[in-house]
Amino acid sequence: MSRRIGVLGGTFNPVHIGHLRSALEVAEEFAFDELRLIPSARPPHRDAPAVSAEDRLALVRLAVEGIELLQVDDRELQRERPSYSIETLESLRAELGSEVQLFLLLGWDAYCGLPSWHRWQELLDYCHILVLQRPDADSEAPEALRDLQAARSVADPQSMSGPCGEISFVWQTPLAISATRIRQLLASNRSVRFLVPDAVLAYINAHGLYRATS
Ligand code: ATP
Repeated sequence: MSRRIGVLGGTFNPVHIGHLRSALEVAEEFAFDELRLIPSARPPHRDAPAVSAEDRLALVRLAVEGIELLQVDDRELQRERPSYSIETLESLRAELGSEVQLFLLLGWDAYCGLPSWHRWQELLDYCHILVLQRPDADSEAPEALRDLQAARSVADPQSMSGPCGEISFVWQTPLAISATRIRQLLASNRSVRFLVPDAVLAYINAHGLYRATS
C-alpha cells in the first residue's frame, strides 16, 4: 500500500482547536500515515500577518507536540517567495516520490477561491483535493471550477485512488472557532483558554503576542 499523506496549509495566526480537531478527524477517517500542517510564511491572498512566521510556526509545533499523526512542515518558511501551494506541492512530490498519495485539504471557501491561485490548474498533477464541506451548506462551485469538478470528482472520498488527480468532498461539522475571533479576544484582553491548546496559550502570553499594546 502506498503511503497516504494529508496536507493542511494555513496562516495559523494563531493555530486553534478548530484546525487541530478537524485535521485529526480527517487524518483518522482517511487512514493517513501523517497529516502535515504547513504554515504559510507569506500568504499571497491576504495582508502579511502581524505575528511573524517564526512565531506562528512555533505555535503550530507546540500545538501538535506528542500527536504522532499530526506533523509540522516548515518548508514555506524556507522560501523567500510568496507561499504558493503549487510550489509546496512540487517540492513535497520531489521529496516523497511519485507513489505517495497526497491529499490537499481545503475548506469550501478556499476551494471556491482556487481559480485565483497561482498555477491552479496544475494542482491535481501533484495531489488529490479533499474539500471539507459543512453538512448544512448547499453551495455550488463557481463556474470556473465546474468542468474540472465534473471531470475529476469522485462521490466517495474513501475510493480516491492513485497518487493524485481526483477531487472529493468530506462533510464535517467544524467547531465554530476562527483565528480572527481569537485575535479579537486577545486584543481586548479576554481569555482564549480552551480555544487553543494550553502550550499555545503559554507561548502567546510569554511573547506578548496579539495583545493590545498600550
Ligand atoms: P482567520 O480567521 O485568520 O481567517 P482561520 O481560523 O480561518 O483564520 P486559517 O489559518 O486561515 O485559519 O485556516 C487554515 C485552514 O484551516 C483553512 O483550510 C480553513 O478552512 C481551516 N479552518 C479554519 N478554521 C477552522 C475550523 N474552526 N474548523 C475546521 N477547519 C478550519
